[in-house]
Amino acid sequence: MKNLKTAVIGVGHLGRFHAQKYANVSDLQGIYDANPDRAAEVARELGCRTFASIPELLASVEAISIATPTSTHHEVAEEALRAGVHCLVEKPFTLDIPEADALIALAQERQLVLAVGHIKRVHPAIRYLRQVGYGAPRYLEAERLAPFKARSLDIDVIMDLMIHDLDLTLLLTEAEPVDVRAVGVAAVTDKADMANAWITLSNGTVANLAASRVVREPARRLRIFWQDRYASVDFIQNTLHIYHRGEGAVPGIPGVRDEAVNLAKTDALAAEIEDFLGAVLRQSPVFCDGMAGRRVLAAALQVRKAVDGFLSR
Ligand code: NAD
Repeated sequence: MKNLKTAVIGVGHLGRFHAQKYANVSDLQGIYDANPDRAAEVARELGCRTFASIPELLASVEAISIATPTSTHHEVAEEALRAGVHCLVEKPFTLDIPEADALIALAQERQLVLAVGHIKRVHPAIRYLRQVGYGAPRYLEAERLAPFKARSLDIDVIMDLMIHDLDLTLLLTEAEPVDVRAVGVAAVTDKADMANAWITLSNGTVANLAASRVVREPARRLRIFWQDRYASVDFIQNTLHIYHRGEGAVPGIPGVRDEAVNLAKTDALAAEIEDFLGAVLRQSPVFCDGMAGRRVLAAALQVRKAVDGFLSR
């Protein structure tokens, strides 16, 4: 990987971290940001160069991350793919399905890796739950609540935060939404800043997802219920407890065993970038490709439609 020539386009809050990881594992050629002061600041920190334009950057590299605002993903990724450069696009993939389809087709035509940064997939709790394979859950509920920050305001809270739990829902159930009900409120911006969705999937699982970017206390939790067990993930505390019915005794709850799964402390972004660069080198599948990014985008757009219906009542 050390020989792969890489770069990052968009080095704001998240792109700066991407550039740090590329500097560790690959041959980081430099960075580009529409804000030259920001680019200079990150380049100073990493001891790399800034490019004066996107075409200049693309002419020097094999693989890049695109961590610009979502509204620019399609335009920037299209330019990169046309230049023959492999792309890891931050989530959400694009603003709409036609944009996603155009990028998927272009990547296929040029035989380039197109990855989407649905990073929660590599979280050790999710990896563990997929590995043990308890089958499709009956019900799952997620809360992803964050204090307000003046970032990602080109998208609503569904695309910004709920999309993580939509992705995990689709991943863990391997099913498609068949009925989507949702409410949402534009509390601070002109887009939904909080939303609650009630989704029935094709396999019968029901998912209740809550997301907000205007709360005082952050929370990132996922609870998954099967017939005889229940898993509770806290992404902030990095904990996973699985409660097995009929197997032991939690104090005060006879017949229930509390399995505290020991989760490794991992660097999820480094894992995501190494997976992407590995796919470029070995032409192997990525953990989240364009089709997977499109699938969760489609689910997010269904939630958006339901929220719009609620708002226009
Ligand atoms: P940010 O506003 O901090 O950074 C965006 C940067 O892109 C800014 O520095 C801006 O100057 C630059 N920029 C804007 N237009 C550009 C263009 N056309 N070309 C080059 N640079 C451009 O935003 P952020 O929080 O870093 O988010 C960036 C992307 O990452 C968004 O798509 C967001 O949804 C995604 N994101 C993903 C996660 C995750 O968990 N995977 C978390 C946060 C953000």
